[in-house]
Amino acid sequence: MDIAVQRVPGKRAGSFVYVTEDNYIFHLYKERALRCRKHKHYACLARLTMFGERFFIKSHHSHANEENEIERIAVENSASTFSPAKTL
Ligand SMILES: [Zn+2]
Repeated sequence: MDIAVQRVPGKRAGSFVYVTEDNYIFHLYKERALRCRKHKHYACLARLTMFGERFFIKSHHSHANEENEIERIAVENSASTFSPAKTL
């Protein structure tokens, strides 16, 4: 089954995370292969494989999606481009 995936900047400079349309986060672990970043914590077996511009998903997640975390990443990424004034 193929799935829409968005590449977004990760925490470390030059790193990326991959966010699927159903709000899960994947990391690249070898060329063209990605695994769920919760794979360790939840023994999650979900995998993505990259074929050119397309992504195919294998297996299912063993945990809830990461909607909140994805929102936080989006906020962090926009905060780094225009730094808002801090108010106390
Ligand atoms: Zn997972």
